[in-house]
Amino acid sequence: MENQKIDIRKLSLIELEDYFLAKGDKKFRAKQVYDWLWNKSLKNFDDMSNISLATREMLKENFIINHIQVDLMQHSTDGTIKNAVKLFDDKIVESVLIPTTKRITACVSSQVGCSLDCNFCATARLKRMRNLSPGEIYDQVVAIKEEAETYFKRPLTNIVFMGMGEPLLNYANVIEAIDKITSPEGLGMAPRRITLSTVGVTKMIRKMADDEVKFNLAVSLHSAINETRSRLMPINDSNPVEELAEALKYWYQKTKRKVTYEYVIWDGINDDEKHARALAKFCKIIPSKVNLIQYNPIDEGEFRQAKPEAVEMYVRILEQNGIIAKVRKSRGQDIDAACGQLANKNEVGQLTSI
Ligand code: SAH
Repeated sequence: MENQKIDIRKLSLIELEDYFLAKGDKKFRAKQVYDWLWNKSLKNFDDMSNISLATREMLKENFIINHIQVDLMQHSTDGTIKNAVKLFDDKIVESVLIPTTKRITACVSSQVGCSLDCNFCATARLKRMRNLSPGEIYDQVVAIKEEAETYFKRPLTNIVFMGMGEPLLNYANVIEAIDKITSPEGLGMAPRRITLSTVGVTKMIRKMADDEVKFNLAVSLHSAINETRSRLMPINDSNPVEELAEALKYWYQKTKRKVTYEYVIWDGINDDEKHARALAKFCKIIPSKVNLIQYNPIDEGEFRQAKPEAVEMYVRILEQNGIIAKVRKSRGQDIDAACGQLANKNEVGQLTSI
């Protein structure tokens, strides 16, 4: 039966070499197949043109390639593209291509749904269904890389783990995907072009520091005051601001990489000077910068984007404290591709497909 076959991309190069040696074949056959699977991102064994027919048949009998399929592609008026990606078990995740004048960024998902309950995020309402495999994460990048070349005639320049899910709760698979994305056998992208965004799982920030990862870290902060942060993000109860600060100090000590804080300012929630000053203080713990993200409404609920004056007040206070702050405009809002809007709306038939 199909589903008893092993997903061949779960095998490392060494395991694949052992497989071919055990079958009486040459070790380098593994390298050839591995190259098709990762570097060339092939979806079926029949296209492996330098592999003999007999070997291809043998592979088909033992393995499958659990490749993703872009089920629906939506184009925003601002150039942003959102992919609804179908997985082998028919589950759907979303990834986004974000074009700017200088960059083309792929925003990828790490889990189907999300187990965190951030009150302002649409993905949170889906609950977590499962982790994505390294191949499923890698394929999302490949799909966007191809779309960048097709629609923009430009290469993919950056990757952000800011799609669905919490990457640090699927750590092993995310790290393996990044290894493949950065290795010459994969996509050969520079780790400094990759940013992992976390809700702030302190234990895992320490683990990443210990692993001396070479990519960038972003933390969804939204408030540096416990009471407010816990109201927004329940994870703050078990990972409070002080612990986050300690974990980030450890991160900086080990990696010497500065951190980006993602921060939404909401009307009547964190739009006062007290919150702005708390953020400025928090930013001094280690070298950092702030992205002030526009709120993307997910329903008629309690959250509203703060007034422009509040955003200006934040920028002024941060600048007075020597902290770099950028106000980020929302992208792809018309197709629900903006931060926090990824929720498989089309899957549940709330939108008509284009
Ligand atoms: N779980 C990780 C990765 C998701 S990144 C994390 O939390 O960092 C998605 C980013 O969009 C996070 O910074 C999140 O806080 C933010 N976000 C979620 N909902 C949003 C919304 N409705 N409007 C704007 N930003 C939102």
